[in-house]
Amino acid sequence: MLRAVAVVGYRKSGKTTIVEGLVKELVRRGYKVGTVKHIREKDFSIDQRGKDTWRHAQAGASTVICIAPREVATISRRRTKLEEVLRALRGLDFVIIEGFRRASGIPKVAVARSVGEAKELADEFTVACVGHRKPWLPLFKHDEAGKLADLLEQRVPPLLPGIDCRRCGYQSCKEFSLAVIAGRERWNGCPALRERVVLTVDGKRVHLNPFIQELISGTLDGMLSALKGVKGKEIELKVRRRAR
Ligand code: SF4
Repeated sequence: MLRAVAVVGYRKSGKTTIVEGLVKELVRRGYKVGTVKHIREKDFSIDQRGKDTWRHAQAGASTVICIAPREVATISRRRTKLEEVLRALRGLDFVIIEGFRRASGIPKVAVARSVGEAKELADEFTVACVGHRKPWLPLFKHDEAGKLADLLEQRVPPLLPGIDCRRCGYQSCKEFSLAVIAGRERWNGCPALRERVVLTVDGKRVHLNPFIQELISGTLDGMLSALKGVKGKEIELKVRRRAR
């Protein structure tokens, strides 16, 4: 289950130090960790004018992939939403995001140089503060990555399905998320994340009742058992609807 947390703050507040510390600590604890960095400069490009990859893009390629012996880099020339990037990282355990102060629904760590900054940065999704705090929120120092990771392990919920099915006892995924952040609920308490059948339509998860779940999984199990040599634990089926 992927869990994402954004480390937010103004320039020179020490966000990168917190991200570094958290990544080291979580990797040490055996998690698969990724990071995302928000860059505000409108003209930013990781590509370099005149390089082969730049020439590919200038020729009209919307995506350019560089494959080197030890790294793969993808340059996509389009606007991408944070949710889309996180969906692509679902194989990881934790994603630490640097920036995206205004992203809604993402648990946050506010890194503040003053109480005033902490009050500006912290919202209902803030799990903790570093440096200075808004009243009542847990406070850490920049070099307390271990203690901060302890709290994040408890208080950062996974990316939720967003189907507001209420089976957790809350009216919506947002309410459940806020309960985890506040420490009133366990982070893995969403039953929808453990369901056998996951149906998405155009990338959006659809709620299925237990009868439909059983119907789909039973039908697929039956179909696959009739196919010679087809084995495996996870089935992925994509259906393109006929044009109406
Ligand atoms: S059970 Fe999960 S999917 Fe349903 S409302 Fe609660 S958090 Fe959302």
